[in-house]
Amino acid sequence: MKTIAVATIGCKTNQYETEAILNQFIESGYKLVDFSQPSEIYLINTCCVTNRAEYKSRYRIRKAFAKKSNTSKVVVTGCYVEQEPQFLKKLQNQIIQFRNDEKPQIFNCIEKNFPKEEISKSSNNFVELTTDKFYLHTRVPIKVQDGCDSFCSYCILPFVRGRPRSREPENVIKQVKKLVKNDIKEIILTGINLGLYGKEFEDYNLINLLSEISSKTNIQRIRLSSIEPMFFHERLVEYISNNEKICHHFHIPLQSGSDIILKKMNRCYTTNGFQKIINNIKNTIPDAAIGCDVIVGFPGETDEEFEKTFSFIDKLDITYLHVFRYSPREIKSEILMRSIISQGEPRPNTSSTKMKWESDGLKNRQRMHRLIKLSHKKKMKYCNFLIANQIFLKAVLETNKDGYWTSVSDHYVRVYLKDEKSKHGELKDLIAKKVHSQGNGILVGKIIF
Ligand code: SF4
Repeated sequence: MKTIAVATIGCKTNQYETEAILNQFIESGYKLVDFSQPSEIYLINTCCVTNRAEYKSRYRIRKAFAKKSNTSKVVVTGCYVEQEPQFLKKLQNQIIQFRNDEKPQIFNCIEKNFPKEEISKSSNNFVELTTDKFYLHTRVPIKVQDGCDSFCSYCILPFVRGRPRSREPENVIKQVKKLVKNDIKEIILTGINLGLYGKEFEDYNLINLLSEISSKTNIQRIRLSSIEPMFFHERLVEYISNNEKICHHFHIPLQSGSDIILKKMNRCYTTNGFQKIINNIKNTIPDAAIGCDVIVGFPGETDEEFEKTFSFIDKLDITYLHVFRYSPREIKSEILMRSIISQGEPRPNTSSTKMKWESDGLKNRQRMHRLIKLSHKKKMKYCNFLIANQIFLKAVLETNKDGYWTSVSDHYVRVYLKDEKSKHGELKDLIAKKVHSQGNGILVGKIIF
């Protein structure tokens, strides 16, 4: 039997695309094997959103080379390819590369020798890539949007993913119906900038899509991936509060609690505006879990600006943080370049800038550490709130370890369940009993039905 090994780096959109490509190979008789095993095909779906993501992409490519036989093919796709880095240029005769909009053709090119040169270049529309089976996820990501034109100064995605495009609603509905038939209980709507869904349509937005999915399919749980604060509307919160299928979980990137830094980041909102979004969610859906991304060490972030961020987040009624450290990279964004220079910082990519950022490394690690501790404190507080208020949770059982099922519940808290009768993929109604002894915001639940 022919074999394929896959590795995905980066966001849920990439994870979705890997699953869709993988399904084409499996449907034609390939067997999925672990990436550490010998395989005929190694598919690496790369990311370039941070230096670390690029490093991980290169690492996986090297790993494939360490394992491959003379006849194996190493197929590299994703955002790192879009950047055309030297690393890939040097390997160009030994790997097969596909840009993001070529992903739907990977199977045909590899398996059916369809000439790569004949792949039609991307239209300005959403490139459809679908699957009705998922091999690596129990709660499955569904890509409904691609691209972004917000040009936040630290973000490379508008350059590698292109302008915003939305998936036709009927294609989403068709796919969700098939997934329901295949016993999928939870979908996670995802995109590069999900809040922009429907931007190019007339009178059709994310709320319309949610409404159609809820009414036209029997999917039981719908989760939203990250939505940027610039596109987070009160109407969405109100709609979700009246729709029982949608998880009470929001992820809204904050990035900084300093208005000066937000401006430098070209983020078009203020801390005051962000505060209003959180207050509105909590007033409308008091049990909502809210997560935020934060970047530390952005150029120009002084001790004072960081303290503003820390104390802003400390007071914010949110559940958890994802903390990232800004690191110097080839800065493509003129917006960032201009904002750094206008603040009196040295021009990026010069050795003096690199040295300065490196010497800030320890300070930034300390900042990260403080925010991670703060996140932990908030998560524990939220868990105790769920327990004290006997909030019902819903969870799709994902993995079984040491006699416990574990899953990420609709309120984005990992639950552990001791239950021998339940099966993988089942949706359970639970009640939180106590914080897990490992204290990582993990709850031990009891099955209600
Ligand atoms: S809105 Fe998100 S995807 Fe778009 S540029 Fe900003 S950070 Fe990047």
